[in-house]
Amino acid sequence: MALDSHIEKVLWTAGEISDRVAELAAEITSDLSPNSPAPVLVGVATGAFVFLADLVRQIKLPISVDFIRADSYGAGTESTGAPRLSLDLKLDVTGKHVILVEDIVDSGSTVASLIGHLEKKGASSVSVCAFLDKPARRKVEFRVVLCILQCPDYFVVGYGMDFAEVYRNLPYVGVLKPEFYS
Ligand code: 5GP
Ligand code: MG
Ligand code: MG
Repeated sequence: MALDSHIEKVLWTAGEISDRVAELAAEITSDLSPNSPAPVLVGVATGAFVFLADLVRQIKLPISVDFIRADSYGAGTESTGAPRLSLDLKLDVTGKHVILVEDIVDSGSTVASLIGHLEKKGASSVSVCAFLDKPARRKVEFRVVLCILQCPDYFVVGYGMDFAEVYRNLPYVGVLKPEFYS
């Protein structure tokens, strides 16, 4: 069955997403100082890969890119609350500004623990750039979120985000029909 037919409702189209990503990239570009060392954009794998790819291509200053991986969900739709670092950085971030790029901030525990990790690795500052923010479910508070869009309390898929490792390739964000969440 075609992929689109699994979706009950589209929350943001590809066009709406690209407009917001362009605005955020312009904001990031204007906040960066051209004389400081190139900041490191760290994507949280796997979910941030689409957002990160779109975002970095619109930032008009030198930057570096790396990935980190923290596992908390398994195959379900509820966070286990205690993310485990399963892939660490390749780059040395000592003395660098790090922008942590996430697909979605839900309880906040993944981002909070990654901020702590990046600070321990010597980053001079860490800011968070999330594609979606789901404030209704926040359990852990943390600093700056440059957020693209506010997400209602649904489990969403697409634009990098999965259900059981499927649906990341949808170019938009949507909610699955109930029969596909099992
Ligand atoms: P948190 O630690 O903030 O509870 O959640 C962190 C991770 O859970 C997010 O980075 C994301 O990978 C996943 N997650 C949270 N909400 C959703 C959602 O609605 N859909 C999908 N596909 N993943 C989610
Ligand atoms: Mg994520
Ligand atoms: Mg996931």
